[in-house]
Amino acid sequence: MSGEPQYIGIDESLTFSCGPHKGCFNQCCCDVNQFLYPYDILRLSRALGVSTGEFIETYTYIYIGDTTGLPVVSFKTSSQNNHACPFVTEQGCSVYEDRPASCRIFPLARALARSREDGTLSEYFAVIEDPICEGFQGGAVWTPRQWVKNQGLTAYNERNDKMIELISLKQQVMPGRLEGDDRKDFELACYDLDGFRARVADGTLAFEEGQKKAILEDDDALLHGAMDWLRERLFGTRRAS
Ligand code: SF4
Ligand code: SF4
Repeated sequence: MSGEPQYIGIDESLTFSCGPHKGCFNQCCCDVNQFLYPYDILRLSRALGVSTGEFIETYTYIYIGDTTGLPVVSFKTSSQNNHACPFVTEQGCSVYEDRPASCRIFPLARALARSREDGTLSEYFAVIEDPICEGFQGGAVWTPRQWVKNQGLTAYNERNDKMIELISLKQQVMPGRLEGDDRKDFELACYDLDGFRARVADGTLAFEEGQKKAILEDDDALLHGAMDWLRERLFGTRRAS
């Protein structure tokens, strides 16, 4: 998806509707180039009945950010089908109930900023007016606050924001490229959560008994435990400058 963002307040209005009645139906699911976050991968792998490792191997590719050294996960696409999302069908999205946050948020974009004074986080929204998208040509009136709720984004934002905070902290504390074991551990804790769980199960990663049990039995505990472990592993002994 492309287009210039225009900032919009959380309670300002925009007109938008999407669905098979639009001439552009499915166009936004072709030529995709979007990042996947930890909770996106967890939801999609559970919906497809595969492990996070199998999901990453089969449906995604990982590239390494030039300046950050951070691994970034995107859908695997092919020029033979115009770089379409692996889950788009003629009828629409085949994983609609578990589609990633980036699919839910469109036609908005969301950014987070932390106050230098008191450390509180604020969210900002912009409208992405992609020229291929006919969604702006009539429809319901929404505010970003209503759109986030309607699209089931609250659960995604709460969980994926943990990774955004980790990236922000990494840029403050370790501004160079992430390399070697640091990068492997980032990939494990953020993306291959079943791989992380297996290391907790076999004792390679040590947790106290109560947290270990929770990580082994509950996906939310797994996700939060992995993020907290990564924060401690990368930054536990370092201070932001
Ligand atoms: S209206 Fe926009 S978001 Fe909906 S199918 Fe068309 S291009 Fe995609
Ligand atoms: S996951 Fe679904 S909504 Fe998102 S790009 Fe793929 S087909 Fe489209």
